[in-house]
Amino acid sequence: MDFAETAEQAMLREAVGKIASSYGHDYFSAKVKSGGHTTELWRDVAGAGFIGVSIPERYGGGGMGISELAIVAEELGAHGCPLLLLMVSPAICGTILARFGTPEQRERWLPGLASGERKMAFAITEPDAGSNAHRLATMATRDGDAWRIGGTKHFISGVDEADAVLVVARTGTDAASGRGRLSLFIVDTDAPGCERTLIPMEIAAPEKQFLLFFDDVTVPPERLLGTEGDGLRQVFHGLNPERIIAAAGANGIARYALDKAVAYAGQRRVWNGPIGAHQGIAHPLASAKIELELARLATQKAAWAHDAGQRDAGEAANMAKYAAAEASLHALDAAIQTHGGNGFATEYGLADLWGMSRVLRTAPVSREMILNFVAEHSLGLPPSY
Ligand SMILES: Cc1cc2nc3c(=O)[nH]c(=O)nc-3n(C[C@H](O)[C@H](O)[C@H](O)COP(=O)(O)OP(=O)(O)OC[C@H]3O[C@@H](n4cnc5c(N)ncnc54)[C@H](O)[C@@H]3O)c2cc1C
Repeated sequence: MDFAETAEQAMLREAVGKIASSYGHDYFSAKVKSGGHTTELWRDVAGAGFIGVSIPERYGGGGMGISELAIVAEELGAHGCPLLLLMVSPAICGTILARFGTPEQRERWLPGLASGERKMAFAITEPDAGSNAHRLATMATRDGDAWRIGGTKHFISGVDEADAVLVVARTGTDAASGRGRLSLFIVDTDAPGCERTLIPMEIAAPEKQFLLFFDDVTVPPERLLGTEGDGLRQVFHGLNPERIIAAAGANGIARYALDKAVAYAGQRRVWNGPIGAHQGIAHPLASAKIELELARLATQKAAWAHDAGQRDAGEAANMAKYAAAEASLHALDAAIQTHGGNGFATEYGLADLWGMSRVLRTAPVSREMILNFVAEHSLGLPPSY
């Protein structure tokens, strides 16, 4: 067993860190405040080949894995620039397309996702289905060769930046279980009948969330991704990477917060020595550091399990996302506390990350759904639903 990163991974980490530090958290928060997108940062990271690092080389990607994309996500977070769309465009959509796309679909979509010139959003969540994918009501019905899609998706990130959206729709119902048979479709964001409404959110993220309406959107047969009715299994192949990249981003936020807290605790003096000498300040930071390193290990293990095609990658990805979201919140909270009143001052760049860090406890999969999974699948307890 070897816990060390390869020389290539270490170089990747350093190179991403260099780009991210040339932007930094001030750039990120200025974009959030102006309602802009982090276009320049995305372009530079993509231009260096890092957005597409996990996409096969044949399609212009780096030919590496989710382990390497996790390094990209962690470094961006560690420099105060956590990017939600990394979880979606390369991690979910790129992974599913590379695995289940037809040769034509891969040729058509993967080079753009690898170069970062194209983005693909991902739409599974629905207002009335939420965490229960079996209740999805968005329907895709055959019309000759084509498919007609109708329904509503909720909280879909980055639709305004994306060329297309990967939509999870019901194409039938399993007679025995009553559960939906799901299929995946690639829908252009400007397709006739595809409308979006911005959802005002209280998280400081440059990526925006949308209600997405499909009003009889017609797509040709080549927009069905993978096998009809096998969408749930295919989606899970992309949801594990999404959870791993969410975990990596959360670990990055925790590193960012701890770095700031340690620097501040070392120089701020209100009694005899620096405040970092008080155990009331030092211990929460030390315990956050331990949680962070445990979460990083869990994330690396999950990424390795996915890249190695291990069957327990789902369990590892869930556990990593759980651990990292908690580690990020605890580190950020300890960092804010360390800064006293300055923890809330814009200049110190901490409190504005609270929403982003907190959202990772709820999305892309909630803490409770992870606990359900672990209780049932890891511990063998009876299912609660
Ligand atoms: C910023 C942001 C970005 C997002 N981006 C996307 C995106 O790009 N694409 C997309 O498809 N979705 C996206 N989502 C949606 C996100 O994945 C969901 O919000 C999340 O999965 C929870 O689903 P829900 O909001 O419907 O909550 P619900 O399912 O309504 O759950 C509400 C609460 O009940 C709990 N709960 C539900 N069922 C159970 C149970 N059986 N046992 C115990 N507790 C339970 C949940 O854990 C949660 O705390 C995004 C959400 C946010 C906030």
